[in-house]
Amino acid sequence: MKSSPSEISLGFEHSYADQLGEFCISVKPAPAPLPSLLQFNSALAEELGLDPDLLPAGTVEQIFSGNQLPRDGRPVAQAYAGHQFGNLVPQLGDGRALLMGELIDRNGIRRDVALKGSGVTPFSRGGDGKAALGPVLREYLISEAMHALGIPTTRSLAAVATGESVMRERLLKGAVLTRVAASHVRVGTFQFFALRNHVDQVRKLADYVCARHYPEIKDDGDRYLLLIRGVVQSQAELIARWMMVGFIHGVMNTDNMTVSGETIDYGPCAFMESYDPKTVFSSIDHAGRYAYVNQPTIAIWNLARFAETLLPLIDSSDEGRAVDLATAELEKFTSYFERHWYSGVSAKLGLSGSKQDAYGCEKTRKLIDDWFDMMRAAKVDYTLAWCHLADVLDKEHSKFNALFSNQEARESWLGRWREMLAGKNASQVAVSMRSINPLYIPRNHLVEQALDAANNEGDLSEFEQLLEAVQQPFERRVQWDRYATPAPQDFTENYQTFCGT
Ligand code: AMP
Ligand code: MG
Repeated sequence: MKSSPSEISLGFEHSYADQLGEFCISVKPAPAPLPSLLQFNSALAEELGLDPDLLPAGTVEQIFSGNQLPRDGRPVAQAYAGHQFGNLVPQLGDGRALLMGELIDRNGIRRDVALKGSGVTPFSRGGDGKAALGPVLREYLISEAMHALGIPTTRSLAAVATGESVMRERLLKGAVLTRVAASHVRVGTFQFFALRNHVDQVRKLADYVCARHYPEIKDDGDRYLLLIRGVVQSQAELIARWMMVGFIHGVMNTDNMTVSGETIDYGPCAFMESYDPKTVFSSIDHAGRYAYVNQPTIAIWNLARFAETLLPLIDSSDEGRAVDLATAELEKFTSYFERHWYSGVSAKLGLSGSKQDAYGCEKTRKLIDDWFDMMRAAKVDYTLAWCHLADVLDKEHSKFNALFSNQEARESWLGRWREMLAGKNASQVAVSMRSINPLYIPRNHLVEQALDAANNEGDLSEFEQLLEAVQQPFERRVQWDRYATPAPQDFTENYQTFCGT
């Protein structure tokens, strides 16, 4: 067994640093005085082909705090720009993160392994480059919950406490998160060189992204339009999936939108409790730009910024033509989104497989739209509403009726729903509904309780129990009842999330 991390090779490759050297800068992680492991994701490690024998106790925290590099680690900070709340910031970049390398996973997919909270870089802009323990654990928990919900997302491999304090509004414990991503290329990565008019660099990046994320795109005249189409499709599906579970990203700046279609940057995100499309939790989102209901519109706005970076590649001599072609791709977002939304919600309502589940079926759309109106009027818990609807099929009406007290509206809607389910086996439909409507989501009050215990008492047991439940969101267990219970209303009314880690 190897003893020192510097003698260990994890199998890192470095396609990004090798092919896109201008897009990143080599930086060494800051030392962590006393690293201690908080969480390690063995299932993900295995998926990544990391051999547990190569990671003996004591080594994991050294490597994933950034304290010691494995022999094949070549950390780089990636450059990017971005529109933050609509305002262009020409230089952002990894101010507190470092890409260590890429691993080819068990499915042959190239995955980035990056540290977050590993010290200052040339992109830190006065920040300390560090991360606090609470937000690191928060990202770990919510990203793993999203994965369990089947939503494309960056993953969390490890969380390590550094043994040093970081100054925020008060002194907090420091930590480093190891984030695994299909890649960290963002809309903002394209913007970085586009706004400096470095068309050749944008082309290099676009070709890299096509090869890595959209290999079906051939090297011909249409390739950059097809790249827009691919990213528009991935994002339309992603946002529809977020909204089906009540997820509010909270800071959909262009630097926080991947071109792979994975969710990234779990800062002020939160799950909606009682259904209100205007819900916002982020403390800095005063105008509600990133409210639940605005997410598709903002995605289109961000994708328009992405498409702009590719215009010179689409037609270098006729900008008007390039704009027309790119606009036609962007305009498809709504139909992609609606296709995923209506067919996904049809499945959540138990209507898949019937002729009514078609995205084009007017009657189903009306039933769905009315369902959302009814949820809004009754301010029901978004997660429980679907679960208790499934119970109705097992003749358990009490919880559903308690959620929807307007009997007339409720019975009229249920009547139309039952009509559409006619001919199906009710208990089988209930089973299929329960297999896609989660019972356990990371509820905000429980997340806060778990993080407080970890932060104040160094007690990770609540965190680990909550993590276990949200990693099995469709599994019903009596001992997990409290994870399916909404927060007290005054908690949710006053709940605010914050950006910084
Ligand atoms: P985010 O809000 O996480 O999307 O971050 C926006 C930008 O701020 C990115 O360029 C980050 O790298 C940078 N940033 C956030 N926190 C820090 C920090 N503590 N030190 C340095 N840069 C940071
Ligand atoms: Mg970010």
